[in-house]
Amino acid sequence: MKYCVNCGKEISEDSVYCPNCGAVQQEGMVAQTNTVVVTTATNMNCVAGLILSCLSIFFNLFGVIGIMGIIFSNKGIEECKQRNENGEVLGSIGKVIGICTTILFVLGLIFSVSILSWY
Ligand SMILES: [Zn+2]
Repeated sequence: MKYCVNCGKEISEDSVYCPNCGAVQQEGMVAQTNTVVVTTATNMNCVAGLILSCLSIFFNLFGVIGIMGIIFSNKGIEECKQRNENGEVLGSIGKVIGICTTILFVLGLIFSVSILSWY
């Protein structure tokens, strides 16, 4: 059995607060400080990759914007793994969109060339 550090009343082994006086128990305090709070930053390359890929849906200058989206997203995903940063999901989405717009651009290019060669 454990006793309250403040009032000395019997309390259960795992209680953080005393049910009698409400005082925070020492063990509970230790357990709380042992919990390491890790704040991670969002990787900017992942964000840039996603923005570029989204932009390439509407405006893909010579297919470059879509490819840049893939490059930035890839770089961001790698950095997320190395530095344990957030944004891997954003980078993955950016990469998928970038690949899609690049494929569409190439298909559009092939289509345009085949139309032109008809005449
Ligand atoms: Zn107490």
